[in-house]
Amino acid sequence: MESLRDKYEVVIGLEVHAQLKTKSKIFAPDSTEFGSEQNTHISAITLGMPGVLPVLNKEVVNMGILTGLALNCTIPPRCKFDRKQYFYPDLPKGYQISQYDEPICVNGYLEIKGKKIGITRAHLEEDAGKLVHAGAAGLAGSSYSLVDLNRAGTPLLEIVSEPDMRSSEEARMYMEELRNIVRYIGVCDGNLEEGSMRCDANISIMPKGAKEFGTRAEIKNVNSFSALQRAIEYEIDRQIEIVEEGGKVVQETRLWDDNARETRSMRGKEDAHDYRYFPEPDLMPLEISREWVENIRKTMSELPGQKRERYMGLGLSEYDASVIVEQMPLAMFFDKVLELGATPKIAVNFIMGEIAAYLKEEKIEITDTKLTPENLVELIQLIEKAVISNNIGKQIIIDMMKDGEKASAIVEKRGLSQITDEGAIKEIVQKVVDANAPQVEAYRNGKTQLLGFFVGQVMKETKGRANPQTVNALLKEILG
Ligand code: ADP
Ligand code: MG
Repeated sequence: MESLRDKYEVVIGLEVHAQLKTKSKIFAPDSTEFGSEQNTHISAITLGMPGVLPVLNKEVVNMGILTGLALNCTIPPRCKFDRKQYFYPDLPKGYQISQYDEPICVNGYLEIKGKKIGITRAHLEEDAGKLVHAGAAGLAGSSYSLVDLNRAGTPLLEIVSEPDMRSSEEARMYMEELRNIVRYIGVCDGNLEEGSMRCDANISIMPKGAKEFGTRAEIKNVNSFSALQRAIEYEIDRQIEIVEEGGKVVQETRLWDDNARETRSMRGKEDAHDYRYFPEPDLMPLEISREWVENIRKTMSELPGQKRERYMGLGLSEYDASVIVEQMPLAMFFDKVLELGATPKIAVNFIMGEIAAYLKEEKIEITDTKLTPENLVELIQLIEKAVISNNIGKQIIIDMMKDGEKASAIVEKRGLSQITDEGAIKEIVQKVVDANAPQVEAYRNGKTQLLGFFVGQVMKETKGRANPQTVNALLKEILG
């Protein structure tokens, strides 16, 4: 497959639904809270009772504008809502209120590693309810489905990209950056597993150098970044195989099955819905003044790209900056540590070293530990004041995360403070030198790389507490 891959260019465009984090629904006062008892947030409006009218939630529009600005979009002075008709049991009205030809955001982009990926549009719409099918959730063997309408009417922003991505890695990076952005500006919690962010991937292939795009397939049901990449890789191979065998890719919607690791046809173009869009008669077109847009712009927090750049300006590598930004709670923690005046370099060494390793091992976030920014800063200051060595710092940071204790308290309790007294260190150095005659001889015969061995021995004797500079100096002096 690898060599065949070289013959083709891959084209990918993503449609991403982001659930907006408002307290109430887009057209009804019902709560949007996740995980409530089924069918408890369902007013007459959500149920689509005759005679009720939708009332647009202003906060939804604010979040739509904010997201558009973060994605470098134009916010047209006017947008409108449309009805998209289809029948499904999770859609009480028999239509979804969405935006068709006049969306709230148009013509933006986001950057992945310096490459701009165009964003065609982003539009507001309402989510549908949830169906629990027979066989799922303990209903095995039953012959019915249950409907939970709590989610119906939850605000969504559908963000549609241009077909600008050329590999599954780029698609993944786009999705990750989009998630970073909506999380940092606080409009969506970006949880793919829980479905607060959902992605449909459009994929096609064409011979390298071709001008015209191939026919695309749309892949639904990808709910993690790794599944997105796997689904795209599978789909590329599937399409190449069809074309190589002289066939034609058909335009269709396919479902990704992450267990079977394959896509399966869901519906072809023939069964494509005719949604019979028309302007929603119960809602006025929405006029968005420039003042409104500018006021929202003023509330925008630092975007992930800006944060990465700021970190790099502090001397972090691009990799370190990206890793920290990728984990929002960690970035917030790091920002607080910086604000408290810690030296960035030492703070990063702890965060990217012991702290990151521990979080990864325990599969938790920094906020799940008992380490506070204040306590990390205190630890760093102990190192800078040479009260403890860097090594001791590395030893106690894990305990600080587990127990929430201050570094100074641990150092005091366990007697970990650095031995700086030259006389005391000299005694230990002499002892080590006396106990290792063969190595001393080798060292004196030119094998100077043995210095590290001696330092190690001294550190072992002192449980890492000896001041490293003093140890080095004394060893050189004594070994001659
Ligand atoms: P629809 O309304 O049927 O979903 P759109 O034209 O809005 O179709 O496109 C949906 C998505 O498909 C967009 O993200 C777009 O970038 C992408 N797309 C369009 N054509 C192609 C293609 N030939 N290959 C891959 N992606 C495509
Ligand atoms: Mg589509």
